[in-house]
Amino acid sequence: MAEQELSGKICVVTGAGRGIGKSIAMSLAKIGGHIICISKSEDSCGTLAQDIRNQGYSAEHMAIDVSSPDLVSDACKSILGKHSAVDILVNNAGITRDNLMLRMSQQEWQEVLNTNLNSCFYWTKNLLHPMVKKRWGRIINMASIVGLIGNFGQANYAAAKAGIIGFTKSIAKEVASRGITANAIAPGFIQTDMTSKLGENIVTELLKNIPMKELGMPDDVAETVKFLCSRGARYITGHVINVDGGMVM
Ligand code: NAP
Repeated sequence: MAEQELSGKICVVTGAGRGIGKSIAMSLAKIGGHIICISKSEDSCGTLAQDIRNQGYSAEHMAIDVSSPDLVSDACKSILGKHSAVDILVNNAGITRDNLMLRMSQQEWQEVLNTNLNSCFYWTKNLLHPMVKKRWGRIINMASIVGLIGNFGQANYAAAKAGIIGFTKSIAKEVASRGITANAIAPGFIQTDMTSKLGENIVTELLKNIPMKELGMPDDVAETVKFLCSRGARYITGHVINVDGGMVM
């Protein structure tokens, strides 16, 4: 990939404060993108944007709860007031609220659906029109292998991630003729704060089902995002790319 392939491209990365989103933001910045780092807390996205600028790249930040349609709409108005369009949208923010179905509360269901799935709708809805007018764009939505195969205690999360896959494939069809690709990434188990909550026993069990016998790293996912943004991926749309050490084939 050319060193400055994303020069002049405006990239919104949600959930950029930590984990996978942080790696994505940093790696897109290193190839020339101007990154708008979004996370819930001012501290995490602000620190990342400052780190990116300290390394000589370009970034700004906005602390927004992506589960709020009004806050996302206001943020997009402010972004589009400054930049004529967003070129690359990475819908990565996500949470888990695990519980067995018999015990899952409506709040646990709603919070996960609002943060993981509805947020993708809000950002895409607000940013798509200028992208269509520009006739170039990349939309990358963070799903999970759990959205493909389900998981104990994650009916809410699996439903949200499966929804992201259907959403991605549908918008891919709608905007393919406008130079915009939409793809989803389905990570397996990646070492972040989200998976650090898993106990040692669970990790040992998980590793038995990962042919590569190790958890993935945030950079493994970021490299896939980088590829999907590159010229080399211009003819790939509507796909789900698993980044999972061979867990789901
Ligand atoms: P993480 O380390 O827990 O980081 C989550 C990021 O999302 C944080 O920056 C957090 O903001 C942000 N976020 C959460 N709720 C938000 C909200 N309401 N509004 C704005 N930002 C919010 O998670 P991760 O492991 O990097 O996961 C990133 C994505 O990959 C998620 O969609 C997750 O479902 C997916 N994924 C992860 C794995 C894995 O094994 N880690 C596997 C499959 C899929 P703050 O920093 O402000 O808290």
